[in-house]
Amino acid sequence: MNGTPSTIRCDVAIVGGGMVGLSLAAALRELPLDVLVIEPVPAGSDAQPSFDERTTALSNGSRRILEGIGAWPRVAAEATPIRRIHVSDRGAFAFARLSAEEQGLPALGHTLGNRVLGDALAEICRGAPRVGILCPARVTAVEPGEDHVELGVEGAWTGKLRARLVVAADGARSAVRGAFGIDAIVWDYEQHAVIANVVPERFHDFVAYERFTPDGPVALLPLADGRCTIVWTLAPEEAGRVLSLDEHEFLRRLQDRFGYRLGRFLRVGHRHAYPLSLTRSQRQVAHRAVIIGNAAQGLHPIAGQGFNLGLRDVATLAEVIADDIAARAASADPGAASVLDRYADWRRADRQTVIAFTDGLVRLFGNPLGPVRAARGASLLLFDLFTPAKNAFARVTMGLAGRLPRLSRGVPLT
Ligand SMILES: Cc1cc2nc3c(=O)[nH]c(=O)nc-3n(C[C@H](O)[C@H](O)[C@H](O)COP(=O)(O)OP(=O)(O)OC[C@H]3O[C@@H](n4cnc5c(N)ncnc54)[C@H](O)[C@@H]3O)c2cc1C
Repeated sequence: MNGTPSTIRCDVAIVGGGMVGLSLAAALRELPLDVLVIEPVPAGSDAQPSFDERTTALSNGSRRILEGIGAWPRVAAEATPIRRIHVSDRGAFAFARLSAEEQGLPALGHTLGNRVLGDALAEICRGAPRVGILCPARVTAVEPGEDHVELGVEGAWTGKLRARLVVAADGARSAVRGAFGIDAIVWDYEQHAVIANVVPERFHDFVAYERFTPDGPVALLPLADGRCTIVWTLAPEEAGRVLSLDEHEFLRRLQDRFGYRLGRFLRVGHRHAYPLSLTRSQRQVAHRAVIIGNAAQGLHPIAGQGFNLGLRDVATLAEVIADDIAARAASADPGAASVLDRYADWRRADRQTVIAFTDGLVRLFGNPLGPVRAARGASLLLFDLFTPAKNAFARVTMGLAGRLPRLSRGVPLT
């Protein structure tokens, strides 16, 4: 980074140091680039919207990416393997199962606390000589130029920042996306996800449960200490009511939705609610700009795919930039149209598949009509019996379908 105190230059400015933005900074630190992350809320703060109380289900593809960017060794001890997935439909009395053993794998994925991941990524970035984090700071102006974009920044550091490439990783309501003239289509599901950790009577045995109910799905994911984290989808007013219930009544309502597969629920921790929508950016690239993570696509958490998809944005972007550097050496340019077009072309299929898959699940399992319920019950049972369908499903949800970037395949970036 160089320039006068009030104007600094860098190769890549990442706006948003959440799960996806910091992962990208960690990936790019291997390359001969000056990288700056601009983030309004520090990683360790209670107000951090990305690294909060949630637990994320990570696919095997994401684990490989985190290994490749140096984060996995720092978090592995805190991650819990998912050995089986059990999907059931309360309305249709049907279920389907998927097991790691059947797939010839030690785990189908892992669960990991967002805060644990945030701390690891922040530590990696702090130790990288060519990565800087401007925090707390926010972007207040965006002015695209011929060979750079100028960003107005205010906060811990105030001034102008000239970058050859700007990456919008500032979440579903991305202001940067709008500043580049890119619209987003937003579909409000009119649902909230209530999340909390619960202690069940029986050990979860590393099984992740997804239970579809007429009021919305309830997911239970295994945690390291025998607890489970729940993601309980409800109508907004119901979610508000559930948040204010006392512990006994909350657990009774949850038990009623989920059933007794894990015995009785004994305790519940802090509860939080998140409004759910599908946000889809109409383009992923603009002149010297890329939109990634939730800024490009914010998904319903029903299938636990949002961060996994965002990490593949990270792995692909890092790869097209690395390949440009390998091919063009000193004349390489991370913001060149050829680099960004290659990125957009590569991401199209994966993005469309995962958005359609996730949105389709919400609509299929949210439909209370009798014939639809009967059809989905039959589909679950067929799925349970039909190995090729299971294998194909497993590849998509494990982040191992389609054309994968090197980091997703366990191959180093450079
Ligand atoms: C209840 C729930 C459960 C989920 N579970 C899973 C799961 O199991 N598996 C999975 O893969 N995904 C899951 N997801 C999705 C996952 O959380 C998101 O995909 C992920 O957080 C996206 O990260 P991001 O960095 O793109 O965006 P965000 O997490 O929204 O982070 C955006 C960052 O940008 C910063 N920012 C905002 N405005 C500005 C600005 N003007 N300037 C600079 N910075 C700014 C914010 O402070 C924040 O740090 C879940 C989501 C929810 C709601």
